[in-house]
Amino acid sequence: MKTCPICGKKYTGYPAVSRTDNKTEICPDCGYRQALTAAGIKPEVQEAILAQIHQSEHHIQTLRERFPDEDEISELEKKYPPGTRIRLIKMVDDINPVPAGTLGTVDGVDSTGSLLVTWDNGRSLNVLYGIDEVEIVK
Ligand SMILES: [Zn+2]
Repeated sequence: MKTCPICGKKYTGYPAVSRTDNKTEICPDCGYRQALTAAGIKPEVQEAILAQIHQSEHHIQTLRERFPDEDEISELEKKYPPGTRIRLIKMVDDINPVPAGTLGTVDGVDSTGSLLVTWDNGRSLNVLYGIDEVEIVK
């Protein structure tokens, strides 16, 4: 956690570098404000642009959290080797989901961390990483 010397707000992540001295570390928002000021953009318009940037960052963050990194994928491969029997707890985000409670067999894990599953009812809908929930049947 760092404190921005311009606005006094605490922030995390990478700082921006102040354009006025090229070395003071400031918060990303103040970095954007300086760049927008330099581009001749009015303060009230700057705030609207910042709001848009924050919204985009939120979406990007959500997407990042949704996809696992390599370590998490190898964890998933260890936890769900092909042949693992699972039971679906909940599947969201599909027009025609596999019903909760359906049993299935894991065929593998793909590069987004989705479990490739052949369900006992004959369907083969993937289980989405971080979204759908399953449990291992012992
Ligand atoms: Zn700041």
